[in-house]
Parts: sequence; structure tokens; C-alpha cells
Amino acid sequence: MAKILVIEDNPTNMELVVFLLENAGYSVQGATDAEQGLELVRSNRPDLILMDIQLPGKDGLQATALLKQNPETRNIPVIGLTALAMKGDEDRIRAAGCDGYIAKPLDYHKLWETVARHLSNSPTADQE
Ligand code: MN
Repeated sequence: MAKILVIEDNPTNMELVVFLLENAGYSVQGATDAEQGLELVRSNRPDLILMDIQLPGKDGLQATALLKQNPETRNIPVIGLTALAMKGDEDRIRAAGCDGYIAKPLDYHKLWETVARHLSNSPTADQE
């Protein structure tokens, strides 16, 4: 079973994402800020990360950049979650190293489809 880490500070969004992913059969962990999320990446090695871009303290772009600079974590797919939908924001999300992004409010099928697609591309998930 693939392990997914959700880093999201909004309790309503967190509840929804966890509910949707658990219903799809994934093992899900949540973190409410980047520091807690990065700690869980180190201790639990998720197969994929859903990263809210707007977080208190270190934001999702900074956290993604740190993960992508580290050889031990750079292969974990990171999907940005963003309420921003302008063209320049997509560029910033890609530049930080996110492998993809999903706009909020969430489209359930887009969430499932995006997660499944990135897990199937991921060398870590293929070993499970
Ligand atoms: Mn947020």
C-alpha cells in the first residue's frame, strides 16, 4: 500500500484530502506545517507528498525545494496544492521542484488521477 504524506495547515482541507485518499486505499499521514512534514519524510519515507503551497512559517515551495535538493528525498513525487491559479504561480511551483500541482477547491477525480499517475511513475512505489 502506497504511503502518502499530506502537508496542509487548513483543517477542513486536510480532513477532505485524508478522507479521499484513505477511501482510495492509501496509507495517509498528515502534517500541519513544513517542519513537521519534513520530519515525517525523514522518519517515514512516504511514496508521494501532497504539499500545500501556503503554509505558516516555511512555505510549501521552500519545503519542496529542500526535499528536491536532498539526494535521499529528491525522487519522492511532490504534488503542490494551491488556491492560486495564475500562470506565474504555476511557473513558481514548477521552479521549486514540484512534480505537479492540483488547484483548490479540489476536484476529487483530479486528485485521485494525479496521485495514481505520479505513483505509477515513481521508482519507490514500484518496489512495493
Ligand atoms: Mn494553507
